[in-house]
Amino acid sequence: MNEKEIMNTESSLLANVFSKKPLVFTHGSGALLWDINGKEYIDCASSYGVAALGHCHPKIVAALKAQTEQLITLHSCYYNDKRAEFIQKLVNITPKGLSKAFLSNSGAESIECAIKLARKATGRTEIIAVMGAYHGKTLGALSLTWDKKYREPFTPLIPDIKHVAPDNPDKIRDAITDKTAAVIIEPIRGEGGIRVPPNNYLQQVREICTEKNVLLIFDEVQTSFGRTGKLFCCQNWNVTPDIICLAKPFAGGLPIGITVAREDIMSTLKVGEHSTTFSGSPLVCAAGCAALDTLIEENLADNAAVNGKYFKTQLDMLASKHKIVKEVRGIGLMLGIELRYDVYGVIMKAQNKGVLLIDAGKTVIRILPPLIISQTQIDTVINVLDEVLGEEENERASSSTISN
Ligand SMILES: *Cc1c(COP(=O)(O)O)cnc(C)c1O
Repeated sequence: MNEKEIMNTESSLLANVFSKKPLVFTHGSGALLWDINGKEYIDCASSYGVAALGHCHPKIVAALKAQTEQLITLHSCYYNDKRAEFIQKLVNITPKGLSKAFLSNSGAESIECAIKLARKATGRTEIIAVMGAYHGKTLGALSLTWDKKYREPFTPLIPDIKHVAPDNPDKIRDAITDKTAAVIIEPIRGEGGIRVPPNNYLQQVREICTEKNVLLIFDEVQTSFGRTGKLFCCQNWNVTPDIICLAKPFAGGLPIGITVAREDIMSTLKVGEHSTTFSGSPLVCAAGCAALDTLIEENLADNAAVNGKYFKTQLDMLASKHKIVKEVRGIGLMLGIELRYDVYGVIMKAQNKGVLLIDAGKTVIRILPPLIISQTQIDTVINVLDEVLGEEENERASSSTISN
């Protein structure tokens, strides 16, 4: 199929639920992607954070090649060497006390498990989430997601969900009742606009949950795997939840969801009360082993801290130069640029110049590059952003002169 045929086929045969960009990608390596015409792009989206190791990392490729010749699929009613190896490697690095996991296939599924677990472990039903939160789009996860445009067409959702204002521990304290099972928080809100909490917020929420005997769930689907300079984002503030939800990059690009909890909590789920057919498939676990090895051996969390700091300093310079930039936010390689206007024009212009970016709401550009991005590549991205922010500013200025 040629470029046009590919786009037409996808558009006509797949549900039109993705906001599509007119690009066909056929291969990738490291932080780079190439479209069907051979044009090269620096990938600062990494498929919403999935490609944290970059594209086709040699260790992932090798692990997949080897495992496809061993065993691809095996239901969790049998034991498997790769599954055991993966979960051991994972539990070796999870925050202290989080030692028992359920494996699934996506971020939303990791949330579904956390919801059921919170109900089962506490015998209560209510869950408190925050305004601006994103937890996925299956019905349970969607009930916790804030944006009305995602939720409203699908009501009624699951009952007993409350959304409170973010970044204010008192709002959480006030919302807790004797029906409350859990509080769920993204340590940094991704989809919600790369919102970093005030310094003592997570610590205070932890204290409130402990005091009120309510479970604390962190949704680290986007913030973990070294992205914020620590293996898990909550480690930036030394706060440990009772349940942590993981997904996007943990299997080197293959589908995975992981819910990790304290042993006493996870043990409340009995045989048959939760399961999924693909849970911990050997192929995914082999990729997961290689992904975790690479994360540790290549010090990618440190790399995210160092290169993230460099990236943010450069973005701060752009912010002081371009008036359309309102604020630069983020930690490590989870960065956001809030503009005074809609970000669509800037994202499309950057794309034309070979830099892929995504949004995080209407006015925020989200930057989630692979953790292996080099400083030279960051410099290229900064130069492109400098140009396109300038162009956008000029267009805005001249169109407002005309309309005046
Ligand atoms: C992406 C994301 C999800 C949902 O993950 P899916 O794999 O798309 O279901 C949940 N929570 C957060 C914080 C996310 O970024």
